[in-house]
Amino acid sequence: MSAPPLPTAFAVSRWGEDPWSRGSWSLIGRHGSAADRIQLGTPVGTRLRIAGEATHPTRSGMTHGAYEQGIEAAAWAAEFGHRRVAVLGAGMAGLGAARELAHRGLDTQVWEARDRVGGRTAGIDLDGFTFDLGANWLQQYDQNVLARLAELLQLTTTATDFTSPLVLGAADHTSGLDQALRDRLATAAEGSSVADVLTEWTANPHPWTPAAIRRFIDAEITMDAGVPLEWLSARHGFEAGVGEGDQWISGSYRLLVDHLAQGLDIRLEHPVHTIRVSTDGVTLTGEAGEFSADAVIVTAPVAVLAADVIEFSPPLPAEHRVALGHLGMGRVEKVILRFAERSWPQSPSGYYRLHGPDEGSVSEWLDATSADGKPTLVGLFAGPWLERIWAGPDAEVAAAASQIFHAAGLYTRPSWQM
Ligand SMILES: Cc1cc2nc3c(=O)[nH]c(=O)nc-3n(C[C@H](O)[C@H](O)[C@H](O)COP(=O)(O)OP(=O)(O)OC[C@H]3O[C@@H](n4cnc5c(N)ncnc54)[C@H](O)[C@@H]3O)c2cc1C
Repeated sequence: MSAPPLPTAFAVSRWGEDPWSRGSWSLIGRHGSAADRIQLGTPVGTRLRIAGEATHPTRSGMTHGAYEQGIEAAAWAAEFGHRRVAVLGAGMAGLGAARELAHRGLDTQVWEARDRVGGRTAGIDLDGFTFDLGANWLQQYDQNVLARLAELLQLTTTATDFTSPLVLGAADHTSGLDQALRDRLATAAEGSSVADVLTEWTANPHPWTPAAIRRFIDAEITMDAGVPLEWLSARHGFEAGVGEGDQWISGSYRLLVDHLAQGLDIRLEHPVHTIRVSTDGVTLTGEAGEFSADAVIVTAPVAVLAADVIEFSPPLPAEHRVALGHLGMGRVEKVILRFAERSWPQSPSGYYRLHGPDEGSVSEWLDATSADGKPTLVGLFAGPWLERIWAGPDAEVAAAASQIFHAAGLYTRPSWQM
């Protein structure tokens, strides 16, 4: 076989190693449920509230869920009559909170650890165009408040049909698997994991094969979660999201984020180390100094909260800490590859799925060539092998990812439509 083409430009995400995210999005562990999301977002007294994608009971792990939670937290602060509110984090939740506070005439200041706004949305300039290393799609498009904003701003968006990817490298009989998986997860015992369900199922797989079941779970769950299946809740870990008319933004989420950040008082490179809450107010402390306010909205991701990067004084209540312990974050990473020529088969849906080489190794690919006409692939990697592929420098990751995509055999029938 001839050597696969090398990308002419590339970018690689590192969300798992990033100290301000420590993972990709929040998930419910085997001992948790959506009630933990609600508990985490329950105000702590009258001056502190945690908001962000992790606190949305039905739209977690998505930008519009984060944004909505920010707005809700701002409304809560305003209803208590606070006049000056601090916001920790300038991701979608923080931007939603700060805009709503400003809209209601409150004083607000946002402290952001990074040198940019957007959090887990991250538009990067690559070879003359801007692509997303974080969030890409406007999910649940019809009910997505940010999709309405994108329409208002007349952004160019492209629909992706996730239900009919071109599947490379696996030919399985999968008819009926989707419903069977949903049924098994819905009836699994409380406290059991997806791995427990998989073990029981593959012991008696008829009419499918164990390998087909495993690959289906890789595609449906591992790819969407990026955590060991032993950790993920069977009953509650498979949450709503991908595939409901999703559209990706040509030119990146930065177009939305920059619009939302306009006119706000955002202090970049202001990591918060301590949050003190007293009867008189709150004080945020970091290397950049102190900021005092009547209340604070904290939008740090759950893995950052769990790592005790921020000291709360007094400590978060036991109920919040228990909820935090039931949630976690997985690792799904992205690679963007630009090529001189397009050398891969056309997928009618613009989407590809690859299985292999090993069990649990899965990647999904978006053909983003339509963005500016230059051949471009956006790959998402998850599963046990991600740690291995992402171990080296970016150039090695990009070369390995390109090799994986180009080495996959072409299988022409979309497995989910068989
Ligand atoms: C690879 C990838 C792909 C994704 N794809 C999609 C997608 O297609 N569609 C979708 O809807 N969602 C997607 N998501 C999820 C989406 O990006 C997040 O759900 C959403 O952006 C989270 O917003 P947030 O405001 O809750 O958190 P964040 O965006 O993480 O914002 C929190 C902010 O707090 C800051 N911060 C943390 N600690 C501190 C501190 N101590 N002091 C000060 N600041 C601090 C962080 O720097 C960050 O800016 C994806 C995520 C990843 C990683």
